[in-house]
Amino acid sequence: MTDTGSNIETLRSELPPSVRLIAVSKTKPVKYIIEACNAGQKCFGENRVQELLDKKDNVPSDVEWHLIGHLQTNKVKYVVPFISMIQSVDSLKLLNSINAEASKINRVVNCLLQFHIAREESKYGFSMDEIEGIIKTDGFGDLNFVRICGVMGMATFTDDYNQIRKEFRHLRMCFEMLKSGYFNSDTCFREISMGMSGDYKIAVEEGSTMVRIGSLLFGERLK
Ligand SMILES: *Cc1c(COP(=O)(O)O)cnc(C)c1O
Repeated sequence: MTDTGSNIETLRSELPPSVRLIAVSKTKPVKYIIEACNAGQKCFGENRVQELLDKKDNVPSDVEWHLIGHLQTNKVKYVVPFISMIQSVDSLKLLNSINAEASKINRVVNCLLQFHIAREESKYGFSMDEIEGIIKTDGFGDLNFVRICGVMGMATFTDDYNQIRKEFRHLRMCFEMLKSGYFNSDTCFREISMGMSGDYKIAVEEGSTMVRIGSLLFGERLK
């Protein structure tokens, strides 16, 4: 078995069955994706549209792709036909654009709302106030071609585990508030995507349903 294969197996044996593993293959060659597929991995995450398009036709067709990086509205049309989930919805403009492109091909696209939970300024994402504003906007209920499946967030890049835990706890609380306030009868609204190579154990303890893991599976990235 390849290193990638055994890394996948080790990680899976640690994760509770309720937590889905998204293997983040950004910057890594297709060869690694195929090795992971051979070890039974199905879901992969990429953060750049062009890289995703370059890879997707060179891997097994049952791979499920998750977009996890900031998406520009002019690129929405390229991913909408095949993407399993857009985890990085970070503006109303983007949500509208996904809905418009998806309606053209009559496909409902799974989305997560990305929250800004880290201390760093640079990370994209909503605050709870912004999301509530959007949900109350006229027309939100008419977005029939997006399916909002939950929330996503990235914690601060730090060694301070208490800080990371606080941020994941906050994301979980945002999820619970949205669930009880707006999505109570919506069984699709159930995902909390949090946890990366350095912090996934904390994320799982705090209620993650999806971890997005790259370097731990495929090795450190050079860029
Ligand atoms: C790169 C990336 C990951 C994976 O990071 P690792 O530390 O390599 O596990 C997860 N989520 C997002 C949004 C990313 O951009």
